[in-house]
Amino acid sequence: MGTSIDLSGIYQDLHQHPELSLQETRTAGLVAGHLEDFGYEVTPGVGGTGVVAVLRNGAGPVVLLRADMDALPVKEDTGLPYASTVRATDHLGYEVPVMHACGHDVHVTCLLGAAQALASSKSAWQGTLLLVFQPAEELGQGAQAMIDDGLYQRFGVPVVVLGQHVAPLPAGMIGLRAGPSFAGSDTLHVVMHGRGAHGSRPEVSVDPVVMAAATVMRLQTVVSREVAGTDTVVLTIGALRAGTKENIIPDRADLQLTIRTFDTHVRETVMNAIDRIINGEAATAGAPKPPEIENTMSFPAVVNDLQAVAHTRAAFDEEFGADRILDPGPVTGSEDVGLLAMAADIPCVYWLLGGADPQAFAGLTDFKAMEKIVARLPSNHSPHFAPVIEPTLHTGVTALITAARAWLPVTS
Ligand code: ZN
Ligand code: ZN
Repeated sequence: MGTSIDLSGIYQDLHQHPELSLQETRTAGLVAGHLEDFGYEVTPGVGGTGVVAVLRNGAGPVVLLRADMDALPVKEDTGLPYASTVRATDHLGYEVPVMHACGHDVHVTCLLGAAQALASSKSAWQGTLLLVFQPAEELGQGAQAMIDDGLYQRFGVPVVVLGQHVAPLPAGMIGLRAGPSFAGSDTLHVVMHGRGAHGSRPEVSVDPVVMAAATVMRLQTVVSREVAGTDTVVLTIGALRAGTKENIIPDRADLQLTIRTFDTHVRETVMNAIDRIINGEAATAGAPKPPEIENTMSFPAVVNDLQAVAHTRAAFDEEFGADRILDPGPVTGSEDVGLLAMAADIPCVYWLLGGADPQAFAGLTDFKAMEKIVARLPSNHSPHFAPVIEPTLHTGVTALITAARAWLPVTS
């Protein structure tokens, strides 16, 4: 095995060359080239632009390590010497600025670093490494696309899915939580049909504005009246459009909803209630035809398996010291990594990797106190999001190696 790859250089290169979801061809090529150098069996083009790399090292379980590769349509405003100035055409045909504003360049770099270290330390672990470089996380499509392209039939079924997401916690620290960790997210596009008429003649209309207004108000009772006080749900109607002019009753109203949940049963309750209310309000209004409800994006909650977290956490405690691991609480953001675990019915362990300048947190050890600082720092998806290169990369590489080895022990 040759000398270690220049992780800082790779990171800055990826950061300067971000690619939108489903367009990650340069990133995939760079990743595949390095993995081949390290001795992995590399398969590009899985689920579109995804890359799968396998390293067999004797009898033992298969362990999946995952990094997502896509960037966002955000104009970078970090002022960094390696800031992105890239523009590209998005999946809707619009020209947009592109930035690694979610830090997926950190994920790719760290997994490459871990891939090399694990390939050059084969006496310290045993089994099979299955590395997944996933496209299109930001669209909630990439994990499913790789599963649909035969990820587990072609490359084997792992015993666990391991991965990390960079976040504005102090660099050098890990945020790991057992149980629900990232919210499930559903996006609904709804069309409610009425019957258009002159604004002066409501008696011959079925007014979709009133229908939509009643629906919006009734939907507020889902969280307050149908969900237990101990469960967390967000239901936001972020868009409501109907009509063009004061004296025309339109014939349709369009609503767009986002729903965030942490539990599959709660999600089912909420989705059923939404469906019932939208159909019920349309029926009550005498709609000429039933409403159309389309789920345009769906991520399940990321639920970290209790036992799998305990097993991984013990290895982290030993490697980093328990004071560098904190419980960040549930995050209302969403991630499609959970699909990789659900599709094979295996546990998921997904942690947060600190990427913020530790100086900002000087002296703080308590997470409640840190949260106030975190709230003031640029978050993921911000044009100012700028993880510090070190100790972020070193910690992320070490976390992946440590977690992988915990699941791939040497047996004699
Ligand atoms: Zn993101
Ligand atoms: Zn992300």
